[in-house]
Amino acid sequence: NEGIGSWPARRARKTPHRTALLYEGAATTYAALYERTTRLAHALRAAGVERGDRVAYLGANHPSFLESLFATGLLGAVFVPLNTRLAAPEITYQVADSGARLLLHSPAYAATAETVRAETMPITLLPTGGDAYEELLASSSPQPIDESVALDDTCIIMYTSGTTGRPKGAMLSHGNLTWNAVNVLIDHDLIAEEVALVSAPLFHTAGLNMLTLPVLLKGGTCVLVEAFDPGDTFDLIGRHGITFMFGVPAMFDRMTRHARWPVADLTSLRILTCGGSPVPTPLIATYQERGLTFLQGYGMTEAAPGVLFLDAEHAVSKAGTAGVPHFFSDVRVVRPDLTPVDTGETGEVIVSGPHVMRGYWDLPADTEVALRDGWFRSGDAARVDADGYVTIVDRIKDMIISGGENIYPAEVEQALLAHPDIVEAAVIGVPDDKWGEVPRAVVVAREGAAIDPDEVRARLVGRLAGYKIPKSVTAVAALPRTASGKLLKTRLRHEYGS
Ligand code: AMP
Ligand code: MG
Repeated sequence: NEGIGSWPARRARKTPHRTALLYEGAATTYAALYERTTRLAHALRAAGVERGDRVAYLGANHPSFLESLFATGLLGAVFVPLNTRLAAPEITYQVADSGARLLLHSPAYAATAETVRAETMPITLLPTGGDAYEELLASSSPQPIDESVALDDTCIIMYTSGTTGRPKGAMLSHGNLTWNAVNVLIDHDLIAEEVALVSAPLFHTAGLNMLTLPVLLKGGTCVLVEAFDPGDTFDLIGRHGITFMFGVPAMFDRMTRHARWPVADLTSLRILTCGGSPVPTPLIATYQERGLTFLQGYGMTEAAPGVLFLDAEHAVSKAGTAGVPHFFSDVRVVRPDLTPVDTGETGEVIVSGPHVMRGYWDLPADTEVALRDGWFRSGDAARVDADGYVTIVDRIKDMIISGGENIYPAEVEQALLAHPDIVEAAVIGVPDDKWGEVPRAVVVAREGAAIDPDEVRARLVGRLAGYKIPKSVTAVAALPRTASGKLLKTRLRHEYGS
């Protein structure tokens, strides 16, 4: 077995007594992880799971998530992690689309699982994490499973967050996840003593692939928590000596707004990685003041996910860029005819490497559009500087064209976020008789602050070209976001775009 299902066995051979997982004070050693994973694999087999079958998992961060992933991998079956924040019909869609034969779920999602079963083809439900799960493991065999699994076999189908239309299932192979983990190990300098705080959801690519799998590959410890909370985070850092955290900018931002931010002891932290969306410059500065440097990552579900990485050495000198490609990754920024752009010119990011998915599940036409000659088309606009550092500009389809000038909303959003009273900002194009389109800002004010549109606009004069300054500024209570915190621009355009 070349696949990631073999990792617990390989770790148990080397470091059986080290702690792999910590959850609510209970430790799982690598030896225990191997035994529990093997027992679960036998139980899955008894439930009818065969090679290639899809096994879905619905639940918050918990050791059983990883046990299920590894057990599925041991059998050469395919793991389908489901986003717990989705509504029941959205979950049903992904279960049905993947054709899962088994749905593992935590006790908290028993009702949702029943709803899914009522609305999909025959599917077996198997609760994890509770007493029934422990009894199932205890009554299953611990005999090693000897199934041949190759790096090219599909390991996971992970649905993309779907800021555009229906979610698509990215098929990630064992090799994709392995090479991504190797890239993370190399570029983060991970050590065996790493204690990672996993508060980002495991059902998203970042929590699983940028944090948990690389740490387990190296033999470190993952502290699993169900949901991110700034106060709990400070407690956990103190209690476990957390060395490594990964989060989206919103998580790190909430920590700075917590009452304990000025006094919390953060000295154990070695590695803070931020990814998934652009990191606002003021946030970088706030952490720098405490001697903490953000490493920054750019990636996508389809690339398992790490593509570009800005290391500590260049975090300040190349701030604002997303860095250079991970060691085993290749990136080009190209024009629509796929020729490379010149320095400073904006084009589309395309990605190639052993971490790039083999395609979208059951969507050959979409796969053909997204993957050409092994290059994945990201849909993201970017520029490259003379040293090869890539700056992600925005989603190409979010670009606004005003009087023939291109406006990338992300640049305007960054400028708006520099305003002391603005905590969230989105910029969309609205139709205009004279210019075709003009930018409009939709912002969320700091608690207790009032937004004066004219004052906000006046502050941008001199910082941004006139055509980029929003013609109107609307304050709202909250911006529509996906479950993973990405702005839903389509919905914003629908609500505020006319
Ligand atoms: P997903 O497919 O949900 O994993 O989201 C991937 C998308 O998130 C990318 O195509 C980018 O649009 C965006 N993204 C990820 N990382 C960054 C980053 N560091 N800066 C800007 N955008 C990012
Ligand atoms: Mg995407």
